[in-house]
Amino acid sequence: MANNNTFDVIIVGGSYAGLSAAMALGRSLRSVLIIDSGKPCNRQTPHSHNFLTQDGKTPLEISNIAKEQVLQYNTVIFKQGRATTGRKIQNGFEIQTQSGDVYISKKIIFATGLKDIPPNIEGYSECWGISIIHCPYCHGYEVKNKKTGIMANGDIANHYAPLIANLTKDLILITNGKSTLTEEQTNKIRKNNIKIIEKKINRIKHENGKMQQVVFEDESTIQIDALYSSPDAIQHSDIPEKLGCQFTEEGLIKVDDFQQTTINGVYACGDNSNKRAVSLAVSNGSISGVHINNSLALEDFG
Ligand SMILES: Cc1cc2nc3c(=O)[nH]c(=O)nc-3n(C[C@H](O)[C@H](O)[C@H](O)COP(=O)(O)OP(=O)(O)OC[C@H]3O[C@@H](n4cnc5c(N)ncnc54)[C@H](O)[C@@H]3O)c2cc1C
Repeated sequence: MANNNTFDVIIVGGSYAGLSAAMALGRSLRSVLIIDSGKPCNRQTPHSHNFLTQDGKTPLEISNIAKEQVLQYNTVIFKQGRATTGRKIQNGFEIQTQSGDVYISKKIIFATGLKDIPPNIEGYSECWGISIIHCPYCHGYEVKNKKTGIMANGDIANHYAPLIANLTKDLILITNGKSTLTEEQTNKIRKNNIKIIEKKINRIKHENGKMQQVVFEDESTIQIDALYSSPDAIQHSDIPEKLGCQFTEEGLIKVDDFQQTTINGVYACGDNSNKRAVSLAVSNGSISGVHINNSLALEDFG
């Protein structure tokens, strides 16, 4: 059990990845503190899909069930708050929260996710996760056969086009500025009856996040029901970087097969270090919990 503010493991981030790690650790009798600031990246989306047994539930319903099940293990404590700093100390790590609390642990897991940065287009943020979607597997079925746009350019547009064309034939590509598609890519997209619009988007008219019209800078408009778009995303927490963790070229925390970062005893799981999906966050969260328990068991066993 935890002694005052000292734990076997601190998990920063208590959404799908963090709770999954906590499940494996709690069931292994490890004292665990989860610190969570309550801002999962999918919070605006009305329904989450493509996660077996929970298809169509709201993001909050899924995390509430997870939290209820994890907190049945009385070695796990959940605190609402934001971890602001972290440092390596002898035999472990120290985490400080915004409210000034200080906690110590032998190992640490960052399950802190990513923060999406919307482009500077009026109406985009309000539609994000509702009628502006990023993933055909998560939300494509719900808008199948609808009037659909893809807002992307170059290789991303080229990646999206065949996937979305499989879900609707009423499809246009908006490159939001001069196209950077190669000639071959352009020809293939046009051959599939997808019109390419190179005009810049000025704003998106919507009602409660449901898209009504895309308005271009020249004030011309098109009416579509859904728009695929992958905004930039950054790490939600800067503590892994400040601790000295290494990152991939895409800005993800570098991890090994067991989710351990380049710093011994520091783990990362979920979106901050992997491809984005609830199922994957749960999967690699569990891997990090299992691996930490394994190393603690070996350390104790001598
Ligand atoms: C709009 C949208 C819709 C999506 N829809 C689907 C879908 O339908 N199906 C699907 O499989 N996937 C979907 N995804 C992807 C899915 O939401 C993510 O893969 C998943 O949420 C990742 O889980 P995570 O635990 O890694 O991160 P998150 O769920 O983002 O949670 C990270 C948590 O860490 C906390 N945190 C961050 N920094 C700190 C800190 N310093 N201190 C304390 N807490 C901190 C945050 O507040 C948050 O609670 C969607 C994503 C988006 C953006």
